[in-house]
Amino acid sequence: MADSDVVRVIHPTLSKASRLIREVPDFPEPGVLFRDISPLLADGEALSTVVTALGEGHEFDVVAGVEARGFLVGAAVAQAYGTGVVGLRKPGKLPEVADRIDYALEYGTASLELAADTISAGQRVLVVDDVLATGGTLNAACELLGRAGAKVSAAAVVLELTALGGRDRVLGADVHALLAV
Ligand code: AMP
Repeated sequence: MADSDVVRVIHPTLSKASRLIREVPDFPEPGVLFRDISPLLADGEALSTVVTALGEGHEFDVVAGVEARGFLVGAAVAQAYGTGVVGLRKPGKLPEVADRIDYALEYGTASLELAADTISAGQRVLVVDDVLATGGTLNAACELLGRAGAKVSAAAVVLELTALGGRDRVLGADVHALLAV
């Protein structure tokens, strides 16, 4: 499970967390090296350091977590910093949708939806997800929140896959990654 090529980039307390990211070859499809943060989430100490670091240095009124692992981390960040949390959901899950954004993936398209009566104009939002890969998801999340009148304070991820250059695609916010590979 130890992942020797995951490097700590901001904080010494994250070294345990960096060792609890599992590499799964050929998931969800051949050729993809999936970075699974499930063991990290299951470890109280590692989760606590990650949650603290994700919120550190940002001013925000609410956290937006991207489905699905962003929900887990985002809710924990919100609780730690005393804010609410909003889930950015895949289509077909929400009873009332305020807005929806469709965006391109490497193969095909994906969509995110924002629930009605969650974001108010002028609110400062911290967007949270587990992994930054191509950046399409975070960019779409920022655009969706911006259309709702939010001011996106930053996009914070646990792990950035730097070779894909995803942070350059995220136009609506500064990207902060705790760990990079
Ligand atoms: P992207 O839009 O390409 O930046 O992809 C980011 C989203 O897809 C995040 O919500 C991640 O959970 C997931 N993802 C993409 N690639 C990986 C990967 N190699 N390992 C784990 N999650 C990934």
